[in-house]
Amino acid sequence: MTMILSFNEFKKSEYSRNPHFLVIGNPIGHSLSPLMHQAALDFHDINAQYHAVDLAQADITDFIGWLNRDEFLGCNITIPYKNQFIKVVDHIDSYSSEAGVINTIAKSDHKLIGHNTDIHGFTSPLLQYIDQIEGGRVIVFGTGGAAKAVKIGLEDLGVEEIIFVSRTPEKSNLNSDHIWVETVSYDQWQSYADETSMFVNTTPLGMSPNIGRSPISEFDGKLLGKKICYDLIYNPIQTKFLKQADEFGAITINGLDMLIMQGNRSFEIWTGKTFPLDRIKKLLINTLK
Ligand code: NAP
Repeated sequence: MTMILSFNEFKKSEYSRNPHFLVIGNPIGHSLSPLMHQAALDFHDINAQYHAVDLAQADITDFIGWLNRDEFLGCNITIPYKNQFIKVVDHIDSYSSEAGVINTIAKSDHKLIGHNTDIHGFTSPLLQYIDQIEGGRVIVFGTGGAAKAVKIGLEDLGVEEIIFVSRTPEKSNLNSDHIWVETVSYDQWQSYADETSMFVNTTPLGMSPNIGRSPISEFDGKLLGKKICYDLIYNPIQTKFLKQADEFGAITINGLDMLIMQGNRSFEIWTGKTFPLDRIKKLLINTLK
């Protein structure tokens, strides 16, 4: 059984005295991580539990002390704390140092190691399309935290040009030493669409409960035709953006595989084992339905 508790409730509970992994965030009620990770722990018969902890800003110092406990085995970090814990760990992996963000803490020889598994999660479903993507141009809607991970992932896949689309392109701080990066407005991206191999939605437009929204207007839907269209949103599984893409014969990818593969990478770092992927995908699809 997985629980969502405040940090104080968690500390007082019996769960805190047993080996545990956590996901921390605020709010955290929407997280599917406990479901995925507990299923994987049970599948491998690992004696540990995975809990969601709703962490208030005021409890952060207290929580940092908790990381040294023997019962604490590792954690995932989500909004709004992804930027904050990079300063707390002893070492970070190369993806975290590039992104300036960690979403996973692991322990090794009593040291805390920060990892960023979102980048691996994002690129995993794209490996089968590498021939279409490598050396080409990608248009990315949104310039927030996920867009930063997407940029590093696309660089890794050999993309040569990224056009970010923003409501305020003049404020964008997304750039690259390796490839061509430009940020344009919602009135400008259309002129780049022809030569683009993939479109990625990193905005929350279309996310439940606002499922009628999309970064693409009805009029521009035809520009997605025959391209790869990737929406990071996983709830709903088929967003309006992906429906528009589908209508014009695009290849569509939803955010579920990214969610599963970032979790799988964290699990692998902690336990040396991998998720039972089919089982976990079925579990999530049933839950989201
Ligand atoms: P974020 O930091 O808030 O960034 C979202 C960006 O979208 C903003 O920077 C903004 O860019 C744009 N945006 C926000 N509201 C908008 C609106 N009303 N209209 C148009 N653009 C808007 O959030 P994030 O952490 O990057 O997450 C973004 C999405 O990715 C969420 O839906 C999240 O659930 C999803 N996600 C999925 C996974 C996964 O595993 N599948 C992982 C991470 C994130 P501009 O200000 O430049 O317009």
